[in-house]
Amino acid sequence: MEPETLAAAGSKRETASGPETLKNFIGGEWVESAATDAIDDVDPATGAVLARVPLSTTADVDAAARAARAAQPAWAAVPVTKRARAVFALREALVAHRDELTRLVTEDMGKALDDARGEVGRGIESTEVACGVPTLMKGENLEAVATGIDVEMWRQPVGVVAAITPFNFPAMIPLWFLPYAIACGNTFILKPSERDPRTPQRIVELVAGIDEIPDGVVNIVHGAHDAVNGLLDHPEIDAISFVGQASTALHVMDRGTRSGKRVQALGGAKNSMVVMDDADLGKAIPAMMQSAFGNAGQRCLAGSVAVVVGDGERHREVRSALAEAAANLPTGNGADEGVVCPPMVGADARDRLATAAGRAIDEDGSEVVVDGRDRTNAAGALMGPTILTIADRESDLAREELFGPLLGLLEVGSLDEALEFVNASRYGNASVIFTESGAAVRRYRNEVEAGMIGINVGVPAPVAWFPFAGWKDSMVGDLHANGHDAIEFYTRKKVLTTRW
Ligand code: NAD
Repeated sequence: MEPETLAAAGSKRETASGPETLKNFIGGEWVESAATDAIDDVDPATGAVLARVPLSTTADVDAAARAARAAQPAWAAVPVTKRARAVFALREALVAHRDELTRLVTEDMGKALDDARGEVGRGIESTEVACGVPTLMKGENLEAVATGIDVEMWRQPVGVVAAITPFNFPAMIPLWFLPYAIACGNTFILKPSERDPRTPQRIVELVAGIDEIPDGVVNIVHGAHDAVNGLLDHPEIDAISFVGQASTALHVMDRGTRSGKRVQALGGAKNSMVVMDDADLGKAIPAMMQSAFGNAGQRCLAGSVAVVVGDGERHREVRSALAEAAANLPTGNGADEGVVCPPMVGADARDRLATAAGRAIDEDGSEVVVDGRDRTNAAGALMGPTILTIADRESDLAREELFGPLLGLLEVGSLDEALEFVNASRYGNASVIFTESGAAVRRYRNEVEAGMIGINVGVPAPVAWFPFAGWKDSMVGDLHANGHDAIEFYTRKKVLTTRW
């Protein structure tokens, strides 16, 4: 069912009493949440309230789970070729609304327009991979394992799948899960981040307009912790895909598996960028700026520590190149032309980051290389690119995910020392090395403990045909997002042994 159309693409919808309160989409109907509480979705550029987000209750979750369960057997019985065509129709709708979705991402979470366009493109890419489900979902067989006996393995859907997603990629991350889950014959409930839910809401509106996707196959429930815990506990939900902070990932894994669910939970990160003494700074510095300060450092692949290898002269050379590039990096609201470092998701996030920077300086003895704390915007959400030296290798600046435009700088003498620092992290999402040396690359890619590695690439985001996730505390569970892992996660295997 197609809901009311947007008054103007990518702009907020007002009612007589102010910004609209988002509805849940359950069983093919747009319904008001039973919640009495709602929070504001705020534009980090202007501070304007774009929508009210209901804090849905366990009753809302229960309604969604029942609708998804009721729709699942008939959806699983739709031939896989037709399910693939339904996902292809979603791909067509996403492409047709690419600009609108891009503007929504920028309004809702602040991201620069170019970056938002890239994010939407990545979400479309995942949808395209899921269109290959007839090939991807094929099983295996082996004739004559014993006299007259053959064996085959089928993949069947897991059942009802829920995805719980973070604020920093409101288009791409829901699309890491939705297309694959439904392509495999599951029904789906999305609980998007409560901070910027208008983009996922619009994606579900597009789904609602696709005739080939029946009512109840895709549902959305807005809210925060209560909605998440309701999903984790619900007996009608079979699998959970989660992306967010490491502490939330552990909670989701613990509570979800206690009620017998299959869970994949991608967590936080603290990614190092190693700059070898032979690195071409003309290429490395711009890539490091994008990695550390693009999307205001709010990416799970953001490089948040620069580990510079060399002698005192090289350290001074790289430090001054980083300082000059960061001080001149285009910074401002995401809709402004050419911006690289946009505002953070909200003033609360910005305040938390500025406080962490102050603590590093006052308590740990970090030196200021570039200080962006005196820059802000109308919403109080912007902080300029900031670089501080790491004075204590076990400090928060060195070890904790601070998730903003704050880069720690560590100067070391050798690749051994760099590897020792990098591998002592509790996180292992991504790691990057800049060098012209094949020998350094070979050693780094072999020894570094992380799931996604960049060689002269600042943001090593795997394309959707490959699995996406990290190691250590950056991921709990086994199967990553995207590619073959997505098919593994959203299907269960059945093995048939036959004698004739
Ligand atoms: P978050 O953990 O605060 O929230 C993620 C989701 O969990 C939201 O939908 C939220 O409503 C819910 N949630 C949060 N706390 C909860 C609680 N205590 N109980 C129940 N539900 C809860 O994450 P965020 O701040 O929205 O997103 C940023 C984080 O996501 C960063 O740590 C970032 O590194 C991580 N991230 C990781 C990847 C990856 O691939 N590993 C990708 C993107 C983002």
